[in-house]
Amino acid sequence: MTSLVKDADGRAAIEISGLYKSFGANEVLRGVDFHVAAGEVVCVIGPSGSGKSTLLRCVNLLEEPSAGTVRVAGADVTGPEVDIDAVRRRIGMVFQAFNLFPHLTALGNVMIAQRKVLRRGRAEAERVARENLERVGLADKVEAYPAQLSGGQQQRVAIARALAMGPEVMLFDEPTSALDPELVGDVLGVMRGLAEAGMTMLVVTHEMSFAREVADRVVFMDGGVVVEEGPPAQVIGEPAHERTRAFLSRVL
Ligand code: ADP
Ligand code: MG
Repeated sequence: MTSLVKDADGRAAIEISGLYKSFGANEVLRGVDFHVAAGEVVCVIGPSGSGKSTLLRCVNLLEEPSAGTVRVAGADVTGPEVDIDAVRRRIGMVFQAFNLFPHLTALGNVMIAQRKVLRRGRAEAERVARENLERVGLADKVEAYPAQLSGGQQQRVAIARALAMGPEVMLFDEPTSALDPELVGDVLGVMRGLAEAGMTMLVVTHEMSFAREVADRVVFMDGGVVVEEGPPAQVIGEPAHERTRAFLSRVL
């Protein structure tokens, strides 16, 4: 059993073992085991309904697992002693829907959780917000409201908002699926930059070229289990399982 683990730069790992999740009679996760090492980028692919979102939501406790354990930086986030707010502060999450506050500017959207959750003062929250908006290429849009931004720009504000909390791990759930095709590249470019900077990332995506080029490992899920995992050249390039081949033939 690998132990928990932060690497030399203090980056956290995720360890998932024996994870089950049911909604009523619907068993959505049926014994999922895998890990993401500190600084690693893992892409999860698989058909709609295979449990990918539920898996991510179990990692940051938006869903309570029915059985199994999730460890983040060695801490059992599924244990009885867990401080859910503390866990969520360590894990940033970006969804398909950006969920920005329409009445706040980009700057306001990136400041608000820092102020309310981390209790940062206004000046510090603003400084961190500006840094992170610059990091996602939006230094010139800090005063814009969501309605004045493209979908890709709004998603980059959502990424800046997550980064401003100083997460050790970032989860992405199909972050480009709601975007017009010409806007996808900018968001993937920001994610690629985070990966290159060493962020630990777990990314659900249908963007196979991103998975191929950026992921250290690809995990293929179907029917609530991990069917196969490995380097992208193996899982996407030379899949071992028929279910993986069938899925790839539909999306590639
Ligand atoms: P994916 O992200 O791979 O498309 P999901 O994890 O969203 O799959 O969903 C897997 C299954 O779990 C689906 O059958 C879905 O209807 C069900 N499900 C997900 N969330 C809930 C929920 N909150 N309540 C009931 N069923 C849910
Ligand atoms: Mg999903």
